[in-house]
Amino acid sequence: MRILTDDQDGAAKAPHPGLRHGVPGVGVSTLASQWYCELKIDLKYRHPELSIVSPAMERGTEGHGAFSADAVPMSREELEARLRDGEDVYLQESRFRAPIHDAPVVGIPDLVHLRGREARLVLEFKFSRRDDLFIDRFIQAQTYGLLLEGSGYGMNEAVCVVGVLKSPASRGADESKMESLRKDGVLGTILERSAALRERLLGSPRHLFSLRTTEERSGTLHAFRYDPATARRHLRWALDYWLERREAVPTKHASKCRSCAFNAAGLCGKARCGPDPRISVQPVILDGRPMLEVRWQESL
Ligand code: SF4
Repeated sequence: MRILTDDQDGAAKAPHPGLRHGVPGVGVSTLASQWYCELKIDLKYRHPELSIVSPAMERGTEGHGAFSADAVPMSREELEARLRDGEDVYLQESRFRAPIHDAPVVGIPDLVHLRGREARLVLEFKFSRRDDLFIDRFIQAQTYGLLLEGSGYGMNEAVCVVGVLKSPASRGADESKMESLRKDGVLGTILERSAALRERLLGSPRHLFSLRTTEERSGTLHAFRYDPATARRHLRWALDYWLERREAVPTKHASKCRSCAFNAAGLCGKARCGPDPRISVQPVILDGRPMLEVRWQESL
């Protein structure tokens, strides 16, 4: 596994004219989360004083960091040389950027398999008990495909895979959950099965195969063809918010409002119900700045 060294320059960090909130570009995971509640994204930028601590967020960060812990760094120049020679390259958590609907979009796919300048697999991992292929998961993987295509990679035979994984029940005190999964060869198994799903998809009129595995630490792999037209159609809606063509849309689902930090902090005027009383909001000082810390109990 390889990981691209980041060559982000100052220009890429400067605010992009015409984009909301003075951002230099829009992140793929941010775009995907607009399908959960777009207003929540908006409030996050308007209220940087809110510090949100949740067990789910801590689990997700831990899992992704562990995946790339032993990837070998590689420069863009080395990547280009290897691709010119037609080599297979597996890139973990490497940054790609490209314009989509007039907006600069940047994203870090979990894993990409390239053969020469052809992309074969785009993999996105989720750590969740809900293994459905939700629209945001589908769009996130497709958007990484758009970034690869915008970066000059061939996508004619590319397949996206969303892997929804369960964390192991127990682990040592110093071992992250994903380190534990890697030790058991789960990542290798996912790659093997994803390659097989890709072959099945390319030889079939179907657009989606989902594979549930039954072993311990099992998960579900959703494999689907790269579909730029569908991705662009959905992203037009999402990017219209960033290009200030419309205001943020709140969710219609009260259950999301109930567990929302902005609702608990009294910052959302569109909440559909009161916040869960088990969410606490406390004034704290973080790095010398007064903040509001929103914290979930582990049982939530
Ligand atoms: S309270 Fe509901 S509508 Fe408001 S930001 Fe939270 S989830 Fe969205």
